[in-house]
Amino acid sequence: DSPRTAGDPICLPPGISSARFKTFLLRLAGICGEDNVTAITKEEELHHESYLEPSKCHDMFSIMNKEAFIASAVVSPRHTGEVQAIMRLCNEFEIPVWPFSIGRNVGYGGAAPRVPGSLGMDLGCNMNKIIKVDVDGAYALVEPGVTYFDLHNYLVEHNLRDKLWVDVPDLGGGSVLGNTVERGVGYTPYGDHYMMHCGMEVVLPNGELVRTGMGALPNPKADPNAPAYEQEPNESWQLFNYGFGPYNDGTFTQSSLGVVTKMGVWLMTNPGGYQSYMITFPRDEDLHQIVEIIRPLRVGMVLQNVPTLRHILLDAAVHGDRKSYTDSDKPLTDDEIDAIAKKLNLGRWNFYGALYGPAPVREVMWQVVKGAFSQVPGAKFYFPEDQPDNIVLQTRHNTLQGIPSVTELKWVDWLPNGAHLFFSPIAKVSGDEAVAQYALTRKRCEQAGLDFIGTFVVGMREMHHIVCLVFNRKDPKSCEKAHWVISTLVQDAAERGWGEYRTHIALMDQIAQTYNFNDNAQMKLNERIKNALDPKGILAPGKNGIWPQTYDAKSWAI
Ligand code: ADP
Repeated sequence: DSPRTAGDPICLPPGISSARFKTFLLRLAGICGEDNVTAITKEEELHHESYLEPSKCHDMFSIMNKEAFIASAVVSPRHTGEVQAIMRLCNEFEIPVWPFSIGRNVGYGGAAPRVPGSLGMDLGCNMNKIIKVDVDGAYALVEPGVTYFDLHNYLVEHNLRDKLWVDVPDLGGGSVLGNTVERGVGYTPYGDHYMMHCGMEVVLPNGELVRTGMGALPNPKADPNAPAYEQEPNESWQLFNYGFGPYNDGTFTQSSLGVVTKMGVWLMTNPGGYQSYMITFPRDEDLHQIVEIIRPLRVGMVLQNVPTLRHILLDAAVHGDRKSYTDSDKPLTDDEIDAIAKKLNLGRWNFYGALYGPAPVREVMWQVVKGAFSQVPGAKFYFPEDQPDNIVLQTRHNTLQGIPSVTELKWVDWLPNGAHLFFSPIAKVSGDEAVAQYALTRKRCEQAGLDFIGTFVVGMREMHHIVCLVFNRKDPKSCEKAHWVISTLVQDAAERGWGEYRTHIALMDQIAQTYNFNDNAQMKLNERIKNALDPKGILAPGKNGIWPQTYDAKSWAI
């Protein structure tokens, strides 16, 4: 490697000389204006460590060194035409580009690219309009930079909350579009974000623009002379997902096949009444019975929303850091965990759900829900007013009706210099499987000296089991342990037929390799599509373990 000269980025794109990179930056500035191009030249750029002011160029919660996943420069296009021009330029220079919307994908890599030296494309910076909220159709059309706070606040400011609700994830600062393309979840009846999206506008790796579903059918009123991305879309684009012919939207999620520049999202109509609740269960061993009770209720939609069954330490970590409970540096024992539950007036497992609809509907539903969970000895039932100081219950009360917050950031501070990784396997809604996943993940956490912190997020037919691996980001040993736990668990899980729904950039290869049915048939298909759409491999190489033909995947292994 030649020494860095003044103005060079900390990390150049692979195979690109300093001189060529400078030419590239000039050309980029020619597209987007100088103010929208930032080379990452200074160590200070790597000092961002807060969700509220996230880094746009590296992983704030890296388990490896800070430069393992770092952009050479960040560009902020002002409109879709510029996204198209950037894609063409990156093809010309053969420089990889990593699109992101806000970069708050915490626990999964934030804004950081898989290939160090990639150009970061910060779509949210300038492209952040709520293009439309349609009350009758109950949908919104948004650009990448629209956060859950933005969309919710829009409804409040336009006096629309009595008509429409947004579904929000735990933290409201991320983008509606970015979360959906990563197939993230929220907690109202509209909690499966991908299921509730409708219509995408996508820039392909070669710079071409497509609209999916009904968007492919031109609106007869549109100005055919305007740039395609500005043309008035088909009026059914956000009403019917599938259009005609193969349904392509899925290929643009967790993928490296396109940059999504607009997306439709269905909004929930105000149900005309709402009641959140918490049910606490006293014993660790109650898990099996609880999950068996959940299954028929959820599949039958008596549980109307995406409820969560949280381990006590997840709630405890929101209430206080580890030091506030113990001086021990060993994983907490069952007795210690029981004491924490008692102190907080919570159970070992705590279930958060909500009832939607006018009072008579809710009352009937509540009888069924309460009756079912009452079978667990010692179960206790609470409404938010019963525990006004319980910050988790108060926050869930908001989250489950689509009011965003950042309260859940607190649990990351469980350890000093807290950072986290998510290990997120899919589990059947079955007592046996929940208990087996809990036993395995807790055991591995404890082997690494970590406390088990986790939650079961109940989807339509499965549970996203989210294990929150909290580590000290300033302690290399702690980072190493976290890395060991997660990669060991990926392997353990695959051996039992369990797979993860999403992951951190450092684990993408390993997880992709576990989805290897029939001699890696799916990966071969993904690679064929990737190479056809992106022959030079410039868009997000390595994303979700898919390496283009221009890369030697082995030499990029972690
Ligand atoms: P958030 O909006 O929650 O902060 P990010 O912006 O960090 O999420 O996006 C998470 C990941 O989703 C990115 O790393 C990228 O892989 C993918 N992604 C986000 N936005 C887009 C987009 N507009 N087009 C294509 N992929 C995207």
